[in-house]
Amino acid sequence: MELLGIPANTIAVLKKYDFKIQKKFGQNFLIDPHVLEKIVEAAELTPEDCVVEIGPGLGAMTQYLAKRAGRVAAVEIDRALIPILQETLADCENVEIINEDILKVDLARLAEEKNGGRPIKVVANLPYYITTPIVMSLLEKRVPLYSMTIMVQKEVAERMQAGPGGKEYGALSLAVQYFADARIVANVPPNCFIPRPGVGSAVVCLKRYEKPPVSVPDEDLLFSVIRASFNQRRKMLVNSLYNAAGLSFSKETVREALLALGVPETVRGEALTLEQFARLTELLAAAADDKRS
Ligand code: SAM
Repeated sequence: MELLGIPANTIAVLKKYDFKIQKKFGQNFLIDPHVLEKIVEAAELTPEDCVVEIGPGLGAMTQYLAKRAGRVAAVEIDRALIPILQETLADCENVEIINEDILKVDLARLAEEKNGGRPIKVVANLPYYITTPIVMSLLEKRVPLYSMTIMVQKEVAERMQAGPGGKEYGALSLAVQYFADARIVANVPPNCFIPRPGVGSAVVCLKRYEKPPVSVPDEDLLFSVIRASFNQRRKMLVNSLYNAAGLSFSKETVREALLALGVPETVRGEALTLEQFARLTELLAAAADDKRS
């Protein structure tokens, strides 16, 4: 089969199948061989690797992945794409096409079945309408994962890398940076896709840490504190945490914890580093324990 990264080949396949592009599934097909090369290179694939591709679309990237990885499991929601993928990937014996919604797939089980429980590599040109839930469930749900090399909206890639103080910094930045080293490897303009998306895109590589860079007594509490801190960004932390659903700290407890942390009482969530959030969680957990005993 001809390489789909070449625009004329993608257009021919779309015509042959009279394929109706589904906006609701975030379908923007990549038609730039340089970008495809760059993505597979950034993923550092070897024949030992098992890759999970989310949303293979017509199979443009899958063709590249199949050449470099040992095996590829490609999960596509749109049933209409399955017969197309069967044709475009007919020569790729190491690819399995799975017609499922990625948000409903048990990825830990998939890694167990396809890779004997060893860490998988995720490579994808993600559907932008569900980027955050996909990334968060891969990071939080203890899927054995080595890395994620993904195309996302440029602004989302910047949020993943952002540090304290700026408007890009938030719950996504902190969650990503707790679990992984995030690095933007390429910026990709709209003319590299059919149809062109209305936003710029970027390829980001997230390499999962063996051990998070900070330690906390309770990971769930850390993420509840982080989420509450950014729910209403303009609020002072003391009010966000004291008012938050699911957390039961008094205003006084939060105030004392901030004092012990050495930050002003008027501080906002956007000013705290990951390290400070970890320490704040520790202080709040200790205050809750003291209250109980
Ligand atoms: N990988 C192809 C490429 O680069 O040309 C297509 C990328 S396109 C941005 C996103 C793909 O994800 C589409 O094929 C779309 O149908 C698929 N998709 C959307 N939602 C999905 C979901 N929940 N589970 C699995 N695939 C999904």
